[in-house]
Amino acid sequence: MDLFEYAENLDFGDIYFKLSSKTGLRAIVALHNLTLGPAIGGCRFLEYDSTESALRDAMRLARGMTYKAAITRVPHGGGKAVLLRPKNMSQAQRVEIFEEFGEFVDNLGGRYITAEDSGTSVADMDVIATRTRHVLGTSSGAMSSGDPSPVTARGVLRGIEAAAKYMFQREDLAGLRVAIQGVGSVGYHLAASLHARGVDLVVTDIDLAAVQRCEREFGASAVPPEAIYSVDADIFSPCALGASINDASIKQLTCRIVAGSANNQLAEDRHGLALRERGILYAPDYVINAGGLIQVVADLAGEDGDWARAKTEGIYDSLMEIFKRADHDNLPTAEVTDRIVEEMLGLR
Ligand code: NAD
Repeated sequence: MDLFEYAENLDFGDIYFKLSSKTGLRAIVALHNLTLGPAIGGCRFLEYDSTESALRDAMRLARGMTYKAAITRVPHGGGKAVLLRPKNMSQAQRVEIFEEFGEFVDNLGGRYITAEDSGTSVADMDVIATRTRHVLGTSSGAMSSGDPSPVTARGVLRGIEAAAKYMFQREDLAGLRVAIQGVGSVGYHLAASLHARGVDLVVTDIDLAAVQRCEREFGASAVPPEAIYSVDADIFSPCALGASINDASIKQLTCRIVAGSANNQLAEDRHGLALRERGILYAPDYVINAGGLIQVVADLAGEDGDWARAKTEGIYDSLMEIFKRADHDNLPTAEVTDRIVEEMLGLR
């Protein structure tokens, strides 16, 4: 598909490029929709097969941020930066690249606020902060809220509680079995709080040490990565990678609920319908995993911890509303969520 057509289909938006032969910076900043406020979104620093794939990644991710910010009702739009990582690079060159990227962000005059994402670190954010104040996730200062994964995990827990109430009319989770795919930062914190609520855990990860920690600390059972979908569980919680809900995995699922932290869980939109047809309740990813966004927005707005906590708890009610509307309109939950956002932004 033509790139302008692709952008139009995603309802874009502004896209900026910055190239520097001096430092090797090749950056794309995609700003999807600023109706609700300045765009917020991470900065990726990865090797890409082509500029086109980097551009598509930036656009798709920026749009996702617009939807996440809108449904979370925070006053921000969606943006994303993608920096094409040079194949061989010294530490000094890395610093120069992020300094120049900081100037690029600054020149956008606050329309875009950057943060960490795949391939970038707190140290990179500190370098960016030497050139602009429109950066989050630095090591010190007001914008240094630290690791967002505990808050994200708390939001996922509330989402699982909402889904269990809706699907099983359960007030608590004790005795349910949850299969977690990926027990890294978010998955581990989620496992801890589920264990504390009497949930029977089955976990998988490609990192053996992460699995063993859950076996040891929470008495979790472990299965190999490819076996996680067919585990006899009430809830499947994808907390590793995107696109884990696809034609092959849906056939294997025995659960009644899919609720986890991973971004872009549905390989394609049609998989939302496929889950519904199998009677599986899906908690849309960008609603349930918004805790991390809430934490950084709290820093930006100078809100206290109570605000962020209340907002994260609100994920429960947001999902309840989506589940009810999906049944009322006989639509997949993911489609209902997209519609709510598009109505808010005047896109429908
Ligand atoms: P992480 O890298 O700490 O954890 C991911 C875990 O998944 C790792 O332990 C990794 O080994 C494992 N994994 C990778 N491939 C796997 C596979 N094929 N099968 C099983 N396990 C596999 O990342 P995280 O911060 O915990 O984030 C998890 C997911 O949640 C990601 O999709 C991320 O984009 C999303 N998310 C995270 C946050 C946050 O606050 N960290 C916020 C919103 C969304």
